[in-house]
Amino acid sequence: MPGLLLVVSGPSGAGKGTVCNLLRAREPQIWYSISATTRPPRRGEVAGRDYLFVSAEEFEDLIARGAFLEWARVYGHYYGTPRAPVEAALQEGKDVLLEIDTQGALQVKNKYPAAILVFLLPPSLSELQARITRRGTDTEEAIRARLEAASAELAHIYAYDYAVMNDDVEEAVRKIQAIMVAEKCRVGKGG
Ligand code: 5GP
Repeated sequence: MPGLLLVVSGPSGAGKGTVCNLLRAREPQIWYSISATTRPPRRGEVAGRDYLFVSAEEFEDLIARGAFLEWARVYGHYYGTPRAPVEAALQEGKDVLLEIDTQGALQVKNKYPAAILVFLLPPSLSELQARITRRGTDTEEAIRARLEAASAELAHIYAYDYAVMNDDVEEAVRKIQAIMVAEKCRVGKGG
């Protein structure tokens, strides 16, 4: 039986990274998809662990070759999920985790209706602003762009299967674990 394709997305600053890291620690069998991006690495990021950092030319070549399961432009940079490793992991029965933006999540749902889309909600937009600002790695202009994008992203929530409020990381991870258990018990999916 193929594994679960779990997509965690939601606005930047909703805490996707923190939640996904804790989820991976709690569920070490999950196969985490490493995205390709044309964004330059942030301080502390490691190529091949956090992202595959590629040039715009390389990314466009990969698009042309159909190498992405989904891709999107986010804040002026390309981001995409390499298709082959995800499909291989699912075929091996592994559960796969994608941490991507809403544009990408909707593309995945179109291609794989069985994908489980989880929308991670920040407690409020002001809390979201505080989180992005605290991170301290973005300029004021970039922060404003991210907040505007967050409001637009909220509009997509009804295309999702689940919404999880991230006011407490432990609780948010417990909810996602519960979603995974429930999905495996769904009639027609075996398990
Ligand atoms: P960041 O630059 O902060 O790492 O990521 C910016 C946004 O791009 C986040 O919302 C992140 O979830 C999203 N993102 C990361 N990888 C991918 C991907 O492969 N595809 C899509 N569509 N979005 C991604």
